[in-house]
Amino acid sequence: MLATVSKNFFLYVSQHKGLNKAARKWGLKFGAAQVVAGMTIEDAIHSVKELNDKGILCTLDHLGEFVSSTEEALLATEYNVRTLEAIGKAGVQSHLSVKMTQLGLDIDRDFCVKNMCQILDAAKRTNNFVRIDMEDYAHCQVTLDILRELREVYGFEHVGTVIQAYLHRALDDVRALKGIPLRLVKGAYKEDPSVAYQDKKEIDENYMTIIKEHLLSGSYTAIASHDHHIIAKVKKFAADNKIPRNQFEFQMLYGFREELQESLVNEGYNMRVYVPFGDDWFGYFMRRLAERPQNVGFALRGLFSKK
Ligand SMILES: Cc1cc2nc3c(=O)[nH]c(=O)nc-3n(C[C@H](O)[C@H](O)[C@H](O)COP(=O)(O)OP(=O)(O)OC[C@H]3O[C@@H](n4cnc5c(N)ncnc54)[C@H](O)[C@@H]3O)c2cc1C
Repeated sequence: MLATVSKNFFLYVSQHKGLNKAARKWGLKFGAAQVVAGMTIEDAIHSVKELNDKGILCTLDHLGEFVSSTEEALLATEYNVRTLEAIGKAGVQSHLSVKMTQLGLDIDRDFCVKNMCQILDAAKRTNNFVRIDMEDYAHCQVTLDILRELREVYGFEHVGTVIQAYLHRALDDVRALKGIPLRLVKGAYKEDPSVAYQDKKEIDENYMTIIKEHLLSGSYTAIASHDHHIIAKVKKFAADNKIPRNQFEFQMLYGFREELQESLVNEGYNMRVYVPFGDDWFGYFMRRLAERPQNVGFALRGLFSKK
């Protein structure tokens, strides 16, 4: 009961525009520095280098979402281009993850696509890959439509997206996206029972269903989860079905289950860490607190620390 209340509370504040705006001025607070790699590109590249040294690949995420002005969206686009250039210049192993609402999806769809094309041009120049994060259900179909447009109309191949197992539509989407590199996740937003499973067991089952589907179709699959039960099942499924190690990778978030990350690397699996950075950290941090009430402890401790 208490867990549900705190989950709903954190999911609610994660989308609160006023708080998100205010938090940009605060600097990383409440222990957020444990899960956000810093405020600048330089901070982020430094963290990527440290992770690469441990054999861990990365994907950088310049934090930002639910942008409502064209100026902000253009700035975010420019920042993402600069991030790709910085990755190329530093010679580190990192992809880029972006959110369509950060690039102006809620302002104008075509404007958002244009911004994304600029980012994908930069990715092409720097020989990199860009993942479109999946946001709330209201943005799901349009995100998938944009992905198709980017690949089929504009001819960009180095772009993929994310499918959320809690959505009833997930298996159909995975089938429709056969051959496209996908990150598969359980899903992080609060969604209506009419479109999303609410029960953990059902979500976990659907998660394994879509993972198996994408792996068996021969498509590159990123399994993004901190759940050791899921990871163990994926390892066994891959071994039993002779799925080559270079056809999939595990992904986790920066600052989460670091020992497990390193042990997967030592076992010879591809491991990629999602490294968020930037001043728009609040919504991201609140969603992490919603997922795992235990994290509230470190947030509260952070309230009293200087970090
Ligand atoms: C790299 C990455 C990218 C993501 N991208 C998106 C996206 O684009 N869109 C989206 O909606 N969501 C995204 N997510 C979030 C995802 O949807 C889930 O909300 C989130 O990963 C929590 O689910 P889980 O599978 O990690 O495990 P959970 O279901 O949260 O946990 C299952 C079990 O795993 C263990 N466990 C979990 N976390 C920990 C921990 N920190 N320490 C110890 N044990 C733990 C516990 O036993 C727990 O009961 C992403 C997640 C990752 C890792």
